[in-house]
Parts: sequence; structure tokens; C-alpha cells
Amino acid sequence: AAMRKSRIKRTKTVCTYCGVGCSFEVWTKDRDILRIQPLEEAPVNGISTCVKGKWGWDFVNSEERLTKPLIRKGDEFVEATWDEALDLIAEKLGGIKEKYGPDALGFIASSKCSNEENYVFQKLARGIVGTNNVDNCSRYCQSPATAALLRTVGHGGDAGTIHDIQAAELIIVIGANAAESHPVLATRIKRAHKLHGQKLIVVDLRENELAQRADLIVHPKPSTDLIWINAVTKYILDMGWEDKDFLDERVNNYEEFVKSLEKFTLEYAEEKTGVTKEQMITVATSIHEAKSTCILWAMGITQHSGATDASTAISNLLLITGNYGRTGTGAYPLRGHNNVQGACDFGTMPAWFPGYEPIQSPKVRERYEKAWGTAIPSEPGYDNHQMVEGMHKGEIKAMYLFGEEMALVDANSNYVQAAFEKLEFYVVQDIFFSKTAQFADVVLPAAPSLEKDGTFTNTERRIQRFYKVLEPLGDSKPDWEIIQEVANRLGANWNYKHPSEIMDEAASLAPIFAGVSYDRLEGFQSLVWPVAADGKDTPLLYTDKFAFPDGKARLVAVDWTPPVEVDAEYDLHLNNGRILEHFHEGNMTYRNEGLTHKVPDTWLEVSLELAKERNLQDGTLVGLTSPYGHVEVRVIVTDRVKGNEVYLPMNTRDDSKAVNYLTSSYHDYITHTPAYKEMGVKMEVIEAE
Ligand code: SF4
Repeated sequence: AAMRKSRIKRTKTVCTYCGVGCSFEVWTKDRDILRIQPLEEAPVNGISTCVKGKWGWDFVNSEERLTKPLIRKGDEFVEATWDEALDLIAEKLGGIKEKYGPDALGFIASSKCSNEENYVFQKLARGIVGTNNVDNCSRYCQSPATAALLRTVGHGGDAGTIHDIQAAELIIVIGANAAESHPVLATRIKRAHKLHGQKLIVVDLRENELAQRADLIVHPKPSTDLIWINAVTKYILDMGWEDKDFLDERVNNYEEFVKSLEKFTLEYAEEKTGVTKEQMITVATSIHEAKSTCILWAMGITQHSGATDASTAISNLLLITGNYGRTGTGAYPLRGHNNVQGACDFGTMPAWFPGYEPIQSPKVRERYEKAWGTAIPSEPGYDNHQMVEGMHKGEIKAMYLFGEEMALVDANSNYVQAAFEKLEFYVVQDIFFSKTAQFADVVLPAAPSLEKDGTFTNTERRIQRFYKVLEPLGDSKPDWEIIQEVANRLGANWNYKHPSEIMDEAASLAPIFAGVSYDRLEGFQSLVWPVAADGKDTPLLYTDKFAFPDGKARLVAVDWTPPVEVDAEYDLHLNNGRILEHFHEGNMTYRNEGLTHKVPDTWLEVSLELAKERNLQDGTLVGLTSPYGHVEVRVIVTDRVKGNEVYLPMNTRDDSKAVNYLTSSYHDYITHTPAYKEMGVKMEVIEAE
């Protein structure tokens, strides 16, 4: 028994799923994952996990893992050696750069991969290829929130930590299904609500699990949030409830902002949004009476045509009421993927270097050019949306993508897939042969988090280390190693032996990571950026100044952008989101027996009213059609959704049901985040249950 026990290895890791950032020990024997053990010292979750973190790891041993590079030969893919695959990539990418210039290449990074991997990827794009055409999947989700925070308070991340969310007297959750998308964070809210009298207001189209516990549920008409938020802000000002000292000392642009609110009366807002005056007054009064308020939001705000402005309205409301810089206050855009915060932080964005320093600043560029020994283009590159358009126009000829199921997760999947078909050369690097990989010329086998070292940054800006538990399966390799090999074949001379060296380089260049090092992150230790050179981190931002040169926040006047117009024949409003048991497009969790047994596939939620009108029952097979595509799916009748609003979770087992065959290419006018939530569909019954 002693011998058997000694073969059991316990290794610390960080969850590979959502942005909450739970950490725990993985118990393994050889390649068998025996147990996930959360420990008290885990800074985010302590002894909690959700079902995905606890059970969702079988995919690493799946027989469907990619274990060898693949090269397309006609319609087939054939196995190749690393040398063959990498030589071909170097020849093709190099040739396309030579022929059309560096901006004919596009780079899509991965929010499922580490900070270090994202860092070297943007370094490859900018420094070696010479293009800023590099983006990551925050373009599909929280880019509008990042942009809103950058322009109002200065840092593109949550204002505080989950500790602050717990400590708040009032929590307002807008357009976020935290109980399923951020489960452990939601349990903290539930506990604070139940045991400590925290007040909870939930604003959503759908009565999600958190809403069912809320003190007030608000259900605005789709795409109207900015209006009621501005009306609540105006009402607070009209009542004289603003935090005058805070505004005097710490905030710019007050007068112009107040003027911009003139039209947002309660009457106007009630008419446009369907939120009653009484509800808006309750929200305003609750904020006024609470000593501390946090506002949490997600895709219900950000996946709209006016998403950056709606996110800005939230930050304005917090500024007006002095809800920044104290425990229990602040803005919390909830991050979806485990490392979507880190992918942005480490520079896989077309306009920003690591640490949110602008590409256009000659001073910053010079710093990187000196360190990297290469020239860097001075203008922002294409974002994800622009790259898709660029492929259709023939401007983007080659793409290199890793760890992103862009064919199904980007909006308007048929259009995105048609764009891929126009590429001269496409490299896809992943752990599975994804839908996206089907369009590639070369597919590279990568290693998941359990098979490498690295760091992830969660929604709180907390950087945590994960350690290699298993050897990479077959010939697969960690993404950072593959990216380094591609870079070296394209003329770089990199020699990173371990991700810690990459982090040291990033820390030496990006001021917000100055004091970050693997030593300071050993075991369950963590650092919340900005981290000063002496290692002091910043769990709570803005305690004495905002991140602008004069230290003051900026109120930004914003107006409402109406949602995309939909023809009357598309008479149902299609909403979409996540489910607890599965993650994102489902490539990992649907390869898990337990989770798939529990939830075998996606479904369409329809309201009691609609079920009655169209004669639908649980299990009825319906077809949904939008101007962009068609999906067939079975129905669940529920009172979670109302009237003509239907809800289709994005997590599918069967590709053909992916909600993005229905969504459009319309987008937030500032960040180009797709307006996934502004969609009309029509429904026909295919087969009654
Ligand atoms: Fe993983 Fe998120 Fe679940 Fe925590 S809450 S275990 S980070 S999926």
C-alpha cells in the first residue's frame, strides 16, 4: 500500500474553465486523474469548486486528442513530423509576407492558453512578422467593458476582488448568468445575501438562478440597458444623492456629463425600456442607502451595438455615487474564459502592448523595439472582426490561430467559415481537431494546461501559477514551445527554456507587471496587478488615484444606440448564453462522460406563453431561421424566459446546433464586438414530441 500511495502525485493547478480562477491540487497516478482537491489556501475558492473544475478533466486523455502535426493534402489530412509541418509553415507564412507584406497575415490568440503563450504570440506577430493584426476572443465578449473602463477609470480590469464583491452592501448584476457562468463567484454572492444581509438586484431578460434569489428582478426590453442606467443616474443627481466630495476631488467632466443626461427622465426610460419608474427609483434608492455598491456585468451588456457606451454608463453611475476605491465598491465585468483577462493583459490586442500601453506611443514602441531588437509597426492592426472582413476582401491571405474555436464561436458562423475558405494558408493549433481545424492547411497538436507550466490571470486581475501534471500526450507540445519554433523558423533567435523566462521579460517591459516573478507566485501564492517592482500588488484599485496622468476619473457622456433592426418575419428575440455543466463551444466538456451524461446537448428555452401559442412541449424539435442560417434543436418549456424571447445556450455537442449559425456580423460600433444578443429568428415545428 505504501508503494502504491507513493506513486500518487499531487500537483497544484488553476482551473482551465471560467474566469473565476479556482485553484486546487490534482491527484494523479501515471496519466490517471484520481481526484481534484481544493485547499483552504486557494486564494479565490478555498475549498469550493464547481462541477466543471471538479470533474471536467477527462478530455486530456481523450482518444480524440491531436498527437501529431497534420498537413492537408487535397481534402485529406495526413500525419507529418514536426519538421515537415514547421518547415511548411515557415515557407508559406514567409512567402506570403514577402509577396503581400506583413499585414496580409492575421493572428488569433487563445484565452484558454497562458499569459506567457499570449505574450510570445503577440511578439511573433509584431516583432517577427511585423504586423499588429493580433487579437483574442475578448473581442467576442468583454472588449466593450475594457474600453469603457479604460476611458472612465483607466485600468481595463475589475476594480477589486471577489472579496470586495462579498463585502458590498449592494450587488447589482446586469446581463450576467453568474450561477452558471461563474459558479464559485455566484456562491459567494449567495452566501453574502443569505448570511450577511447583502442586497441583490438582478437585471436580465431571463430569470436565471441568481435572479430567483434577488431582492429585485428587473426585466428591461432587449438592448435598452443604457437608457435605464442613465435614468437612474439622472434621478440620483436630481435628488441630490451624488457623492459631492468624491466628484469634486476625484472626477473630471462633471458638468458636460450632467448636461448629457437631460433627456433620460424616468418617463422617457419607462417608455423605451419597459422598466417601471418605481423599479428605477428602487434601484436608485438602494444605491443611495448602501454604503458600498458593486456592479457586475457580462454579455447581456457587452454583446450589443452600443455595448461600450452601455458599459460606460455603468462606470459613470458608480463614479457619480462615489462607488470606486473603497472595499465593497466598483465595476466588475465578469470574464468568461479562464485567461481572457490575461490574453488582453499580455498584449494579444491590435492596439495595445502588454499592460495596456498604446502601440501608437513612440516611447513605448521604442522600449519594445530595443528589447526585442526588431522594428514594430506604429499603427493598430486589424481586430478579429476586421480580419474576417479582410479575408473576404482578399487583404488577409494567411492566418495563424491557436486554441480558439473561431468557426463556431465568432458570430455569423457561415460567413466566418466562408472567409476561412478564401485563405491561401491557415495554421490552426489546438488540442482537438476542432471545427476550425477543418479549414486549416496545417494543424499543430498542442498541450492543455495540465501538460505544461504557466500562469493564468482571473477576472480579478489575479495572476496564478499552474504546474505541469502530465507529460504532453504523443508528440503534442506546449503552445509557447510551438510558437517559439515557428518564430525561429521565421528569423527569430529565441531561446526560452521555461515560461518563467517569458514572464521575466514581460515584467521587465510592462510596468504593471514590474514585480511579477515565478518565485513570488510559488505554490498557491498569487499577485493582483498592478504589481510594483518590490512585489506589492493591488487587489483594490483607485484607492487614492485613478489611472490617468492627473489621477482623476473621467465621466463620459454616452447616448443610446438602438439595436440592429430585424424584419418582422423574424418574430422571436433570440438570446444566448452558457450552461453550468459545459464550457463554451464544448470541445472539452462534451468529451467528459459524467458531464455529458448529465447534460447531453443544448436546447431551446421557450416561454409558457409561446409554448401555448405554438403548441410546443418539452422535446418538440423546432427549426430556427435567421437571415444568416438555420439551426434545429429541441425545446424546453420554462418560465425562466418570457413572451417571444427564446434562449439557446451556446454549448453544443453537435456543431450544427451552434447558435452562431443564426447570429449576424453587426457589432458594437466602438470595439467591433459582435451584437450576438440582437437577433430575431422565426421558428417552425419539425417534429412534435
Ligand atoms: Fe473552474 Fe470557474 Fe468552476 Fe471555479 S467556478 S471550478 S474556475 S469553472
